[in-house]
Formats: sequence, structure tokens, C-alpha cells
Amino acid sequence: MGNKKKHEQYFQEKPEEDTMIRWFEEVSEKAGLAQTETLRCIIQTNYETEYLRKWLTKDPKSMDPVELETLYTSLVPLISHVDIEPYIQRIADGDTCSVLTNQPITTLSLSSGTTDGRPKYVPFTRFSSQTTLHIFRLGAAYRSRMFSLRNQGRALEFIYGSKQFQTQGGLTVGTATTHYYASEDFKLKQKVTRSYTCSPQEVIFGADYKQTTYCHLLLGLHYCDQVELVTSTFAYSLVHAFRVLEEVWDEIVEDIRSGTVNSTRVTSPNIRKAVLDVLSSPDPRLADKVEERCRALENSYWQQLIPLLWPNAKYVYSIMTGSMLPYLDKLRHYAGQHLPLVAADYGSTESWIGVNVTPTCPPEKVTFAVVPTFSYFEFIPLYRHNNLTTACVYDTDNNNTNNQNDISAPDVDYFEADPIPLSRVKIGQQYELVLTTFTGLYRYRLGDVVEVAGFYKGTPRLKFICRRKLILSVNIDKNTEMDLQLVVEMACRLLKKNANSDSRVELVDFTSHAYSMTHRDPGHYVIYWEVRGKADDDLLMKCCRKMDLAFMDHGYVVSRKSGTISALELKLVEKGTFKKILDYYIANGAALSQFKTPRCTDNISLLRILDRCTVRSFFSTAYV
Ligand code: AMP
Repeated sequence: MGNKKKHEQYFQEKPEEDTMIRWFEEVSEKAGLAQTETLRCIIQTNYETEYLRKWLTKDPKSMDPVELETLYTSLVPLISHVDIEPYIQRIADGDTCSVLTNQPITTLSLSSGTTDGRPKYVPFTRFSSQTTLHIFRLGAAYRSRMFSLRNQGRALEFIYGSKQFQTQGGLTVGTATTHYYASEDFKLKQKVTRSYTCSPQEVIFGADYKQTTYCHLLLGLHYCDQVELVTSTFAYSLVHAFRVLEEVWDEIVEDIRSGTVNSTRVTSPNIRKAVLDVLSSPDPRLADKVEERCRALENSYWQQLIPLLWPNAKYVYSIMTGSMLPYLDKLRHYAGQHLPLVAADYGSTESWIGVNVTPTCPPEKVTFAVVPTFSYFEFIPLYRHNNLTTACVYDTDNNNTNNQNDISAPDVDYFEADPIPLSRVKIGQQYELVLTTFTGLYRYRLGDVVEVAGFYKGTPRLKFICRRKLILSVNIDKNTEMDLQLVVEMACRLLKKNANSDSRVELVDFTSHAYSMTHRDPGHYVIYWEVRGKADDDLLMKCCRKMDLAFMDHGYVVSRKSGTISALELKLVEKGTFKKILDYYIANGAALSQFKTPRCTDNISLLRILDRCTVRSFFSTAYV
């Protein structure tokens, strides 16, 4: 059957998917126009607000949308979160005037902020929850073209609501995912995607992530033959959950056998009752089956854990890109060769951005097609110091001389040019994203670096590169999260290749810190590793040297050669250290669903944990 015919047949069988895909194809075709219209709509809705009135004095209603777009981008300044914080704080304190939006804001979200070290408040409105539902339906429509899920199947979702609290002004605060799981839209999503989560709300909202994880696993195994999909927001939570399963599987088996819930693992009466209602009776046959499989898995390092325990799962779905890439190896190990890993969509607490329209693409290569109706997107062209020349030549070739004068003075990490609209982005160029949202953020720098990899119809397909913020810098050296990830990846390959054949070694997690100059040391990088399995000192020493040599940033290489940065240090931390870091964040209001291990930290409490848990330390012998 030809492709066109296949699609026609598919659309007839699946009207929901048909509607979503046709809608997206249409708006993508005219993405530039959709953006102009989205901006007009945002401005007209919020023109009367205190913030916009400061910059826009002309009544937008009488203006042509294209003229309005030009006026808006020339008059309203680019801002970062700190610039808008005082306005958000007033809303949090109970100011009900139209400060940022015309509709009152009753809920605030906490963005993870783990890269900044502190959570940020972001306005959350009905629109935020609707777009979440919208992108989930859209993404599900594309996935269902490739993977057919049975009606009324189950989704094993490792999701976690965070604690919600009230601000002084009575607004509810929690993570964006928490607001979404608590909303009617979450129930609706299960209905329209015909896939129901295994755990009841009491489990998702259990205040303790350890109890929640245990129950997700127990209920997931209870429904093991019905589970069609294994998922979490970020891949970290999946790897975390399966590591827990390796440790507690025998207790779960006993619970299934006796129809009870382990009273040491799960103490909350609310959660216990909700889980017992689902389990309802002992199931010794299922317990025997799970036990047999787990015993076999234990002998094979838990390889293919997912398909062996959830044989009807069609794919694993989660954010696997960006700072989640380091967990991909482990996830592949759990999924085995044949169960596809599907990278979830791209978004932030501030706004959803792009959808994965090619779900069979390997996560390392995946791109996200921008949804041009969610927000108004601008793109700040970025040039790293060492590719500035290439970037200039590229533009000269196109008769669009982008000479030094068009590029602003160097920011700490990148040179940047003026922001451009979505309709003018170029393939191969990297940009920082700027958002204007329906929730009251105007020309807000998101801090993410993306690269335009191509187009879907007329909308750009973005590859997520990294957070823009520099993470490692002692003096003239400049390294991003991505640079660090690549360096660690190289050393990891060495670690795996050279480990004794009788011992499996794997990197559990990592972070770093740049020590600045003291009277004894010119400053140096420290990389903290938690390793599972046995790695001898010689091998770790080699890994340390490899990482030192693998930082390609010119500033770093020059500084290392001249001794103005001293030898890179690899600190090996004891088992469980990164769990302590997770616990530290959770205790400070983070939710496991949105947790990302900070790849670099200056936080004194974290450094104290890391240093207290260091068991061995190595200094690189490179550059001597
Ligand atoms: P938060 O608002 O705390 O949930 O974090 C949002 C941030 O997570 C984004 O700004 C990105 O840096 C990162 N992020 C979200 N989705 C993806 C994705 N699909 N791939 C890579 N990074 C992502």
C-alpha cells in the first residue's frame, strides 16, 4: 500500500489523531503567519496590563499584525528572569491588578532551576494546562502512527506531584507537572489517548518520592500484562525507578503474593489504602511469575528488564535529550535492543516549544518541530568564540554580510546578534530562545541553546543543544554543560572498555565544580563521579587524564599549558552520594518528575555532601 493510502486509512480509523496531525500540518505550513497572529492575540489580550503599557503606548487593535510585530520587537526589551521577578513577586503577594496578564493569575509554577541553584516562580494559567494537554495529544498522534496501543491499555508512569504551598497572597505554588497532574486535563489526556495510568492520584501525590516509587513499581507489576507504555517526564526518573526495583523486587513479589503493601516501605495510610483498593486480593500466580523473571534478571545485570517484566510494552517514552543523554546507555540496557526509546517533546515551565514528529528517530538525533501557536518565539543567533569566523563567512556567502558591527560585544560565553523571528532562522545556526507567552512573559530569554536542524513544513525543527549558562570557568576558559557531558562520555568509554572482564563498571551520575584561584592553587576543575562496580586506581587515573585532555576550549587548553589552571581532579564519591543530592533538592521543594542532576555546582551544601562522600581522588598528569 502506498504511503498516502496508508495515511488515509489510518486517519479514517483514528479521527482524534487525524484531527491533531492535520491541524499541526496546516499551522506549520504557514508558521510565520501563525506566529504573527499568535503575537497579535497575546498583545490584544494583555494590552491593558501594567507591564505592556510601559512599552506600548499605541492601541494595538487598530494596527496591522505585521506592523504590530515590528513595533513590539523594537519597543519591548529583552529580559531575563531577574527582570520580571519583582512583578511576579507582587502577584505572589496578592496584587490582583493586571500586572502581567489581563486574566488573574491564581497559580504559580516552580521551574526546576537546578542549573541556577534556586527555583523560579513562573505564572501558570488555564492556558498552560491546556497547551500541556494539546502537546501530549499531538505527540501521541504522531507516535500512534508508528506504534499501535491497545484501547484501554495501561501506562506505567513514573510521575510525582510535588508539595504545593500558598504564597502570602494566597496563590498556589507547585511544579508545572504537579498542577497538570492535579488538573482535569490530566484525566482527559488518559481518555483521549486511551491509555490509563497504573497509579491512583494518592500515589502520584504521595509526599514522599520513595513511597511513590515503590507503589508505582508494585502497581506496574500488578498490571504487567496490560502495560503498553513505560514513561516518565525526564529519563532520570525511569533509571532511578529501575535501580530501586533491583533492590526491592523481592519485597514487591511478597506484596503481590499476599495482596498487601509492605508496611516499612509504605507508611502513609492514604497511599496504602489507595494501593490496597487496586490490589484487592492475593495473586500467588503472578507473584511466582514475577519472581522467576526477577531471579533470571538478577543474573543478567537486569538487561532487558522492561520487556521481560512488561512484555506488552510497545515503547519507552521520556525526555532523553540534553542533560538526560548521560542516562541513555542505562535506559537502553533496561530496554534491550528491540524496545524503542522514544524521546519526549521539548518544553519548559514557561512554555511548551516543540513536538517530536519522528518518534522512531534515535534520541541522540531527535529534533522538535516548533508549535507556532503556543507562544511567540524569537531566536538570538549565537556564535561561539571559535566558530565566529565560520559564521561570518557563511553569512557573507549569502550576501548578507554579518560583520562584527552587527554582533554585540562578547557575552561571557557566546557572541550574539539581534534576535530574529521564526520565519528567518537558518539551518545549522545555533540560537538562544526568547519567549513571549500567553501567561505574561514578554521577550523572555529562556537560556536554552538550540540548533535549527531543518524544517517540518514551514516550522523549524530544533535540536536541543544545552543550557546557555557557562558551567565551568576559572579564568579565560569557557565550558558549557554540553562540553562537560562530551568529556565525561569519552572517559566513560575508556572506563567501560578497560574494566576487568569479570567486573561491570558503570558511571551512576556526575557533577563538577570549578575551584577558583587561591594562594596555593591557580584554580582547577573537579569532576565528581559515582561509579557502580569496581574500577581500579590505574584506570580511574587514565579517565581523569582523558577528561583533562578532552576539554577542547581554547581558553582551557592555553591555561592548562601555561599552568594558569592546574590539573583536573577526579573525585570518586561513595555509593548513594547522588541519592543524597536528590534528597537535598527534594527537601528544598523540587519534584522528582522535573529533577535534573546539576552538572556543576557552587552550592556550599552540595559541595559539603560531595566532599564528605569522596573516597578517592586523582589528579590529571596531562600537560606536564
Ligand atoms: P523545567 O522548566 O524546570 O521543567 O525545565 C525546563 C528545561 O528542561 C528546559 O528549558 C530545557 O533546558 C530542559 N528540557 C525540557 N525539555 C527538554 C527536551 N525535550 N530535551 C532537552 N532538554 C529539555
